Amino acid sequence: MNGEGDEIVLQLADPPNCPRCGGPGPVSAQFSHSWTNASGKEVPGIREAMLCPVCDRDEPAADRLLAFFAVHKTLELSELETFHDLTAAWVAVARARQVDQQQLADEYERSRNGEL
Ligand SMILES: [Zn+2]
Repeated sequence: MNGEGDEIVLQLADPPNCPRCGGPGPVSAQFSHSWTNASGKEVPGIREAMLCPVCDRDEPAADRLLAFFAVHKTLELSELETFHDLTAAWVAVARARQVDQQQLADEYERSRNGEL
């Protein structure tokens, strides 16, 4: 913990496979992520997102980053800024999506518990 709260760690060398389809992707990102649980308590955590050429294909930010990887097999110093912008956009989308999923799971738990 460095207090930043917005640190993104990219893994370009041998990233883990996509958790959705099990296929390989060009990059994974770890980012800090906190969410509010059912009792209103903030829960800090680390999340990981994998860029997948299959599952992320229809997502514009992921598409642009995948296109970048398709063109640039190695990362040139002159491309770092572009790469950073594309990555930041993709991580922002991945982060928002995972928050949604967490909230959905949380709400599902609550409604289920209420019914039981
Ligand atoms: Zn996938």
